Amino acid sequence: MPRIKVITFDLDDTLWDVQRVLRGAEKRLTAWLEDHAPAAAALYRNGEDVLAMRQDLIAAQPHLAHDISRLREEILFVLLRRAGYREASARQVAARAFSVFLEARHDIEFFEGALEALHDLCQRYTLGSLTNGNADPKKLKLDRYLSFSFCAADVGASKPAPDLFHKALRHNDVSPGEAVHVGDHPSHDIAAAASVGMHTVWTHGPAQRSKWQVGLSALPTVAITHLNELVGAVERIEGL
Ligand SMILES: [Mg+2]
Repeated sequence: MPRIKVITFDLDDTLWDVQRVLRGAEKRLTAWLEDHAPAAAALYRNGEDVLAMRQDLIAAQPHLAHDISRLREEILFVLLRRAGYREASARQVAARAFSVFLEARHDIEFFEGALEALHDLCQRYTLGSLTNGNADPKKLKLDRYLSFSFCAADVGASKPAPDLFHKALRHNDVSPGEAVHVGDHPSHDIAAAASVGMHTVWTHGPAQRSKWQVGLSALPTVAITHLNELVGAVERIEGL
């Protein structure tokens, strides 16, 4: 029996480049607002106002910080109200606008080697995803490989809080030493998973390197620069 039983994956910037996707989704949302709610589109273009709305909403409803889908839809609702929409129609238009964003947010391109690694690893381990974001693994057909998926909104806490890791361990009834977390973020993924006692694989290829110049506060069990090294990394952890 292998010592490792469960492997959890971060999603954004671990399996695909999230900035490219978010830029595309913002563009589609803006274009949709221009067509369907031009007064709100004009307000939306003022990034500082939108940021202030976001901060006000989180101050009034702190749980929204961990539910970025609700938060984004609420921002759109406030924006539409400011643009003169009545409450009921602001709700409706905000929901439609958010669905445009969410659809585009799933228009991702997997990093080279990602699906091959998932396909290989799911034959031997239970795989799952742990994300602060709102990518839905089912929409991306990742449920072919993943047995469970939890997001920050499910537990009311974003990584680096330990809640998502504890949830995955409890869900699978395994100890931290029987689990590996794979992720790109030095603090949210590597330090956070290490602090609950899990093994870690840090994905630190050219795609992520430009984003995380900061040093690691906890060393990963193994660091890789390409996802085609992932299966070997897990084998190395098995051999420790
Ligand atoms: Mg990430």
